Amino acid sequence: MGENFYLDNEDLRYYVERGIAWGPLVELTERWYSDTDGFTSAAEAVESYREVLELVGEYVANEIAPHWSSLDREHPYKDGEQVVHPPVLEGIFQGLRGLGLHGQCLPRELDGMNFPLLTYMFNAEMIARADVSVMTHYSFHGGIAMALLVYSIHEGSTAFDPKTWKMKHTRFEQAIRDIVHGEDWGSMDITEPDAGSDMGALRTKAEQDEDGQWFVTGQKIFITSGHGRYHVVIARTEPHVEGADGLAGLSLFLVSAWEDVDGERRVYATVDRLEEKMGHHASATCAVSFERSPAQLIGERGQGFRQMLLLMNNARVGVGFEGLGVMEAAWRLARAYAAERRAFGKAIDQHEMIAELLDGMQTDVQAVRAMAVHAAWHEEMTHKIDIALRCRPDMPELERRRLERELSRCKAVSRRITPLLKYLSSERAVALARQGMQIHGGVGYTQEYGAEKLLRDALVLPVYEGTSQIQALMAMKDTLGGIIKAPQEFLRRLAEAKVRSVSARDPLARGVARVQYLSLAAQQHLVTRTAREKWRSVREQPMGSWAGALRQSWDPKRDFAFAMLHAERLIQLLADEAVCEILLAQAEQHPERAEVLERWLERAEPRARHLYDVITTTGDRLLGRLHGEHGAAAAE
Ligand SMILES: Cc1cc2nc3c(=O)[nH]c(=O)nc-3n(C[C@H](O)[C@H](O)[C@H](O)COP(=O)(O)OP(=O)(O)OC[C@H]3O[C@@H](n4cnc5c(N)ncnc54)[C@H](O)[C@@H]3O)c2cc1C
Repeated sequence: MGENFYLDNEDLRYYVERGIAWGPLVELTERWYSDTDGFTSAAEAVESYREVLELVGEYVANEIAPHWSSLDREHPYKDGEQVVHPPVLEGIFQGLRGLGLHGQCLPRELDGMNFPLLTYMFNAEMIARADVSVMTHYSFHGGIAMALLVYSIHEGSTAFDPKTWKMKHTRFEQAIRDIVHGEDWGSMDITEPDAGSDMGALRTKAEQDEDGQWFVTGQKIFITSGHGRYHVVIARTEPHVEGADGLAGLSLFLVSAWEDVDGERRVYATVDRLEEKMGHHASATCAVSFERSPAQLIGERGQGFRQMLLLMNNARVGVGFEGLGVMEAAWRLARAYAAERRAFGKAIDQHEMIAELLDGMQTDVQAVRAMAVHAAWHEEMTHKIDIALRCRPDMPELERRRLERELSRCKAVSRRITPLLKYLSSERAVALARQGMQIHGGVGYTQEYGAEKLLRDALVLPVYEGTSQIQALMAMKDTLGGIIKAPQEFLRRLAEAKVRSVSARDPLARGVARVQYLSLAAQQHLVTRTAREKWRSVREQPMGSWAGALRQSWDPKRDFAFAMLHAERLIQLLADEAVCEILLAQAEQHPERAEVLERWLERAEPRARHLYDVITTTGDRLLGRLHGEHGAAAAE
């Protein structure tokens, strides 16, 4: 047996073997152990997950990782209308198909293995450690099949047997089976030439003929794996009204790129070009055109944006694991090189600054993994509980109420953590890839070791699936919105953190409380400033309208300018704070994990002090200039 990306990773094994609360997740995944083909206990199921992860770890280490250079040099290319995979990539996907991995998390009724999504995320991490672009193409197989299933369950077009809770049929069954068997894959077609972060500006349109058949027309760009058959496309079904929120007129569709009709192939989606990118070379990034392409409406008309949101967290958690794979690769590559390379009479890992860099890299990898597992568990529980409540109408009332409470808890955690994870993992992946390159000195700048490839591959992570700035804005709006809704609760948390920061017995708990306090104090400053700006604008209006204006007419663009300016600093603070909390809970359960928290705190606490300082002392000069310029522009 050669190398193994599961067995060689002690931190990853900690989660699978001890650090995850598998019980409730397996119970829901196995539908209360009702399936006679399924597992009979969580322990039995986890043993099987572990075996498969070991198998994947072996395949990835021996059949994908050694090809990193060829995957980087030999891209998918266009040959006439076809997109062709180079032989190495084709061979890798044949292997993944042979292992049955595309159906890993699909139910047994659809020929899947019925494993939790969390195991798919671990595969994603290991594959990304070998090559991120292989990982992205891989994720547009099972990821799209699972999305189609969830959409169908939500719109009510999947039926379950009321006795066994087995699935009887589901709307997109053919597409799901094609993907599970590795015969095809899908894509998420959102971005357009004039609309990326700003989805309200999307123009691709969908129209219905008199028989009710939908047709999609428009161009999408940057579509990962857009050369597959199953396109989940967001398109405009209601005209864009100037000044109105453009998101309300969007609907979601499934478009098949081709259909065979009476022995003749009809093509409904054309790949116009493949983007030439700085990295991610084994992943085809396509510009795709639709010209009156027959489409199936998913869910309700006008609900496209909400449908996207339903699975957005999952996709972002996926990028979290992808970044983690890059970080793991960068750290290991740098560590191995630094142990070998000698300068000034000793290995460079014995020089203080390099030793510190390596220590920080390892700490970041462990911190991001802790957050990624936490996010993935809560996101998966959210979906699984929701599905359980839908598929078991006969559930005893007490159990239903318990699950409903757990659903709202998991939903809240997932909503809070996901943007923090997407932000932290992608930004740290770039930082670690850069540090890894630096540790390699001159050879890091050449293609010999792959250190520069990691940096090129990492740089897209803060861009796709919502840029880092968009994650920061989401986290800021949720955080400040929460404080405005429940100020007393916020003040209580602030006071508690302050008290714990001096009174907690455990020095690590005191450190965590200090980070929490700095984060909360920065939030308080942002809310106070926001309220002050709002009060200033309200004061100009007649007194009778003050109460209403303060309660209702909040304009996020105008009233949150100061908070928006500092949103990226805030998300860094929130991420530091969240990692502290997750690692503290871990250390309380498994004392040997305290050492990870200790290393994290050593960096997180001074960083939090710095971020607090910048948030509370800067911003006015730039905002003055920005608003002054806007004023001047408006006057012209
Ligand atoms: C390799 C690759 C693969 C991709 N795969 C897919 C895919 O499979 N499907 C798909 O639909 N799309 C995909 N994309 C597109 C990607 O999601 C978009 O590029 C991304 O959402 C950013 O949109 P944009 O490029 O239009 O940038 P813009 O939205 O124009 O943003 C430009 C810059 O402005 C910043 N910005 C924008 N608005 C604000 C604001 N309000 N406040 C502060 N800053 C702001 C952004 O953060 C960014 O830094 C992919 C892109 C790449 C490069």
